[in-house]
Amino acid sequence: MTVTTGRGAPPEPYQSPGALHVHSVFSDGTGEIDEIAAAAADAGLEWIGMTDHDTLEPRYRGFEGVRSGVHVVVGYEWTPRGGDHALMYGDDGALPAPLEPTIAPREALRIVCEGGGLAFVAHPDEQRHAFTGLPPFPWHDWSVTGFTGIELWNYMSEWVERLTPRNRIYHALVAGAGLQGPTARTLEWWDRLDRPLPGGGFAGGERLTVGVSGVDAHAHRVRFLGRTWTIFPYRQVFRTFVNVLLLEAPLPADAVAARAMILHAIAAGRLVFANRRLGEPLGASFSGLAADGTHVGIAGEAPVATDAPVELRVRTPLHAEIVLRRDGREVVRSRDRELAWAARAPGAYRVEMRRFGEPWLYTNPIVLREPAP
Ligand SMILES: [Zn+2]
Ligand SMILES: [Zn+2]
Repeated sequence: MTVTTGRGAPPEPYQSPGALHVHSVFSDGTGEIDEIAAAAADAGLEWIGMTDHDTLEPRYRGFEGVRSGVHVVVGYEWTPRGGDHALMYGDDGALPAPLEPTIAPREALRIVCEGGGLAFVAHPDEQRHAFTGLPPFPWHDWSVTGFTGIELWNYMSEWVERLTPRNRIYHALVAGAGLQGPTARTLEWWDRLDRPLPGGGFAGGERLTVGVSGVDAHAHRVRFLGRTWTIFPYRQVFRTFVNVLLLEAPLPADAVAARAMILHAIAAGRLVFANRRLGEPLGASFSGLAADGTHVGIAGEAPVATDAPVELRVRTPLHAEIVLRRDGREVVRSRDRELAWAARAPGAYRVEMRRFGEPWLYTNPIVLREPAP
C-alpha cells in the first residue's frame, strides 16, 4: 500500500505527461517506433507505453529506452477474440513473454500481477454503432478483483462510439469533439472496487484499483475519395488523452531507472488523466491536510474522524467546474479555481473537472480511513 504522507510543506510533485495504449507496425498500427516517439516528443509527452497486440517484439528488437527524448516503455495488449482485452506492462522479469490469448481473462490478470507486472482491463464498456462493421470488444467478467486498474477512458473506443453514418466525416476531421467521458457503468465499477474497508484494503483487493486513460493510437490509413487518409495521426492523438504522473523528481536519463519510476507511479495510482483538447492539465492538483498536520497526495492515505477532519484542496490551472466525489457520490462542486473541503467521513475521494460542458480531467482517489481503535 502506498502512503504518501509526510510533515512539513505540502508535496509539490513533478508532473510528467505521457500516453498509454499505443500500437505500431509490430501489430496493426501504421507507425515505426521512432516515428511514434518523435510524434510524442512533438506533442510534449515525456513517456509513452507501447501495447502492440500479443507481442513484445519492440522490446526484443531493442526499441525500449529513450528515443527522441521520450521514454518508450514496451508492454503488450492481450487480445483474446471477442473482447476481454488487457494492457500488460512490466520489466523483463515481470513480462517474460506475452500470455496466450486462450487462457481465462481473470487468470491473465492474476498471472501478470503476481509476477510483479501491471495489468489494466482495456476499454471495458466498449460499444459501437452497427454501421462501422466492427463488433465492440468489451470486458465481460466484472466480478474480478485484485488487478492493477482500469483503462477508464479510451480515445479510440469513445470516438468510434460517437460515430454514426451522419457524423462520420465531421468526426474523422475533428479529434476529440463531443466526448462524453468514461461511461457511468465503468465509473461505478471503479468506485465500487476502490471503496476502502474499515480494517484495511479495498472492496477490490489489497491495493487501490487505478484509473488511467489510453489513446489506443493506430494511425489507421483509409482510402476515401481516391486518396489515402491517415485517421488520427500519432501527433494528433497524442494531443488528446494524457496521463500525468505525479513524481518525486523528473524522470532520470537512465532508461531502466526511468521505466521503473514510470511503472511504479502508474501501479500506485499517482496520476491524473485528462483530455488535452479542452486545455492542458499541468498544474492541476488535489491534496489533503490532516488534522495532525500531515499532507496526503493522490493515491495516498490519511486517517479521518468526525472531530479530526482532513482538509481536501483542489486547484485547477484553467477555468473549470470542479466536482469532488466520495465513493462515487458527489460531495461538493465549484466553479472557482480553488476548492477546499473539510472531509469528516472515511471513503475514497476523487475529483472530476469539466470544461465547456465536457469532461476534462479525472484524478485517482485520496483514501481517508477511520483510525484503528
Ligand atoms: Zn483492444
Ligand atoms: Zn488497442
